[in-house]
Amino acid sequence: MNTNLIQNYKSFLDAGKTERECVSALVSWAEKEGFKDIYKTEKLCAGDKVYVQKMNKAIALFVVGSESMEKGMNILGAHIDSPRLDVKQNPVYEKDFIVYLNTHYYGGIKKYQWVTLPLAIHGVVCKKDGTSINVCIGESDEDPVFCISDILPHLAQKQMKESAADFISGESLDLILGSGIPSKNDEAEDDKKDKITAKKLILNLLKEKYGIEEDDLGSSELEIVPAGKARDLGFDRSLILAYGQDDRSCAYTSARALIESSANTKRTNCCLCVDKEEIGSVGATGMGSHFFENAVAEVIARLPEGYSDLALRRCLANCNMLSSDVNAAYDPMNGDLFDKANASFLGGGIVFNKYTGSRGKSGASDANPEFIARLRGLLDGAGVKYQMAELGKVDQGGGGTIAYLAAKYGMNVLDAGVSVLSMHAPWEITSREDIEQAYNAYKAFLTLE
Ligand code: MN
Ligand code: MN
Repeated sequence: MNTNLIQNYKSFLDAGKTERECVSALVSWAEKEGFKDIYKTEKLCAGDKVYVQKMNKAIALFVVGSESMEKGMNILGAHIDSPRLDVKQNPVYEKDFIVYLNTHYYGGIKKYQWVTLPLAIHGVVCKKDGTSINVCIGESDEDPVFCISDILPHLAQKQMKESAADFISGESLDLILGSGIPSKNDEAEDDKKDKITAKKLILNLLKEKYGIEEDDLGSSELEIVPAGKARDLGFDRSLILAYGQDDRSCAYTSARALIESSANTKRTNCCLCVDKEEIGSVGATGMGSHFFENAVAEVIARLPEGYSDLALRRCLANCNMLSSDVNAAYDPMNGDLFDKANASFLGGGIVFNKYTGSRGKSGASDANPEFIARLRGLLDGAGVKYQMAELGKVDQGGGGTIAYLAAKYGMNVLDAGVSVLSMHAPWEITSREDIEQAYNAYKAFLTLE
């Protein structure tokens, strides 16, 4: 067992609970290993290592190969956004002596899973003067944490009769930031203009400690995530319990495979980590944008072969890609949701998903069997454990990845990643064995010619 890999994986999860934190961790890691910012590089040749990042939320890392880019690249493509609660732009309010932070959930969550947990605030607050304040509160032992309350069982008769989708409403997912002290003559107090309210006290603290004014929250990107570190799970420590393993389990192993890959390959190798997958790959930093295509164009433009539209199109059409994204692990407690012969098991190795989608494969990027056969040969040769699966039983639901967006260019794409139990929950479960097999598979993939 590669203990260094697992240790570093857990540290990566702890340091990267937002897409911005992941990009900044990847940039410093890559720079240590000789990668350069492409915009500080004029010319590129075989063996060079560069990265292109977009708005601090998406990044593409390249190791330039010896053959023409027109022959295509080997790409490992993951996403670094995870389901969470985002903070609204006018978020702080006080209600009956408790001060709250108003949120809007991001991605597919079961809302009831986010109450009565210690939560942390991560993100950035941008000031009018052009400076930005990085925020991370709730992770160190000295920090306070935050929490969303729930109704006590004694008074929950009505709540317990509602459907699970409704009994915690999206609008009620607001974080407790602090509390005031009710006074007996409160109504008389309310008339006093200079009354120090609990909200004012909290805002004063934000100003003193972080230099943040209430209005600055209008230009903030703050994310509420579970507070605490990735942990070993089980007496045998065979499993990992952590936030954000969809899809950072694949992002970490993909990035590590690329960063450690040989600089002497024929094909150019690439690791792509994009944002916004959980809400449909939209926006300037999602896979639906031109970010990746533009990044590849920047690489080609710096090579001796030079840029042309045709060279870029040929390059993208000739790529091999693993869409490094997670799959639902078979859940023995809910076995009836899975077709057992076509389910992925914790510890069974990296999962190949020929197609995702829902109902009649709607939204799927169906991988070519010719490509899958090549990968089977490659992984069998390298002694890597893999399993073939789909998400769950037909007509039970479904999901998607970035695969179909990459496939638009005409490249070969296969979904290949780690199995996750309790996917999209605040704390998700993976197997150490699968993290290791995913890493081995991605490493082998980057040798494909
Ligand atoms: Mn995912
Ligand atoms: Mn997801």
